[in-house]
Amino acid sequence: MTRKTLTALLILALSLLTINAAKKNDELHRMGIFISNFTEQGMYEIDINSIGNADLVRFGIAHNVINNPKSTVKKCALPDCEYGPSLMSGSSVAQSVKKYFDLDVNNRTVTGQPEAIYDGDNYHFDARQWKDDTVYYADVQDVRREKGLVHMEGELYNLNRKSDRPAYFTAIARPYKWQGKNTWSILSLSVEWK
Ligand SMILES: [Zn+2]
Repeated sequence: MTRKTLTALLILALSLLTINAAKKNDELHRMGIFISNFTEQGMYEIDINSIGNADLVRFGIAHNVINNPKSTVKKCALPDCEYGPSLMSGSSVAQSVKKYFDLDVNNRTVTGQPEAIYDGDNYHFDARQWKDDTVYYADVQDVRREKGLVHMEGELYNLNRKSDRPAYFTAIARPYKWQGKNTWSILSLSVEWK
């Protein structure tokens, strides 16, 4: 093998390593966005075996208020609707729940704070009550694959102050195809505050 060939092989190997590292970083980043969809709304503990329908409804409403307000939050047409000025279709809620949990939600009124009243087609609520001032995102730092599931670990950070990292988290997700795209459905999430 000549020196030139050796150099060429070395460069090839190095660039493959770089591509692999970039792919890995890209995947960690995508996983971070996935987990942030739960933590951004203050959902820090998830166990797919015991999660309630009302928790799923709340997830779907808050998810769309935070991420898709223009396309999913309408103004309630009832004059002075006693449940608040906002309206969201049950199908928007069901679609978000399916996407992140791979579960079929039953659209039902959720009481307590905040509340959302289901009228058979739409939820009536007050969108201003469904967003927190402090938002924590997830930084996935370690990934382990076991029996077809993905175990993720990392830290939560304050969206407005990235050095503010108040918690560690662990999560388990299942690789899943949603509308033709590779993503994950959540099985568990657990947060430990520092
Ligand atoms: Zn209304």
